[in-house]
Amino acid sequence: MKIKDTLSKNTPHISFEIFPPKTDAGIEDVMNAVDEIAKLHPSFISVTYGAGGGTSKNTINIASKIQREMNVISLAHLTCVSSTKETIKGILKTLKHEGIDNILALRGDIPKDSNFPLPNHYHYASELIEDIRKSGDFCIGAACYPEGHVEMEHKKDDIDNLKHKVDCGVDFLTTQMFFDNNILYNFLYRIREKGITIPVLPGIMPVTNGKQMKRICELSGTVLPQRFLAIVDKFGDNPKAMQQAGIAYATDQIIDLIANGINHIHVYSMNKPEVAKAIMENLSYIIKE
Ligand code: FAD
Repeated sequence: MKIKDTLSKNTPHISFEIFPPKTDAGIEDVMNAVDEIAKLHPSFISVTYGAGGGTSKNTINIASKIQREMNVISLAHLTCVSSTKETIKGILKTLKHEGIDNILALRGDIPKDSNFPLPNHYHYASELIEDIRKSGDFCIGAACYPEGHVEMEHKKDDIDNLKHKVDCGVDFLTTQMFFDNNILYNFLYRIREKGITIPVLPGIMPVTNGKQMKRICELSGTVLPQRFLAIVDKFGDNPKAMQQAGIAYATDQIIDLIANGINHIHVYSMNKPEVAKAIMENLSYIIKE
């Protein structure tokens, strides 16, 4: 089933994200976590893809099992920056063969040691999206950045590039994490004004390790509001308290989004079923199956 067909529902829904193990040895632990998350009846589960394509096989295997064995729609991420166009063609064939209808089409981060772009490689996600469109009947998602992509000096240019990407054939967008909903509302206003009308799924990160998150946000240019920083300062050294506070903060963001008419929210659950469960329990009267 295609994700775009589920996004027209006007009742609130949650989807979750997981990542494949770095080596085959970790597959059982990840599958156990996915199984727990699938029991929460999310609208779909997305499976990330290693930046250099290293987890390609496991991304496809896990996405395929989610659909076949857990009866939940899956979304396979696919990055193109480190693959030739022939490799991508092969991967698209495998995805089709495995019955995966939904792809999150991404460029990926440029490897620091490469002469980007290598011959017969992709420059941007928009080129991958054009190739996916040509290769079959997939539902295509893409990434967007409410605070602007870190490589772009001006937000306006980033939104112009996003418009071009969407016009190449994107069905829905998922945002990078953000910790202040007003940033999302402002971004939505700007992209709608630009003529980008497809559904946008806000990506919410329940923070369980505050200090690590502070470092990640510094690198990606994500703004951390004072209210969030106070939580990390107070609970950052106490993992259980930090997790509880992170889940409460994420729940608060989700409730505000739903109250403001956004019905589909994507949660970066990061292979942590206990976090996904706690969020669903917090929303038990708000989100019904
Ligand atoms: P693009 O859309 O190609 O944009 C990249 C940059 O190029 C932007 O600054 C954009 O403004 C600029 N640009 C685009 N088109 C043009 C153009 N025509 N001319 C000039 N500039 C242009 N990474 C992974 O490795 N694996 C994952 O599974 C993964 N999942 C993600 C999921 C989400 C929801 C998000 C938000 C990010 C994810 N990422 C993942 C990270 C992502 O790969 C990086 O942020 C990457 O740097 C950009 O990818 P993109 O697809 O947004 O690129």
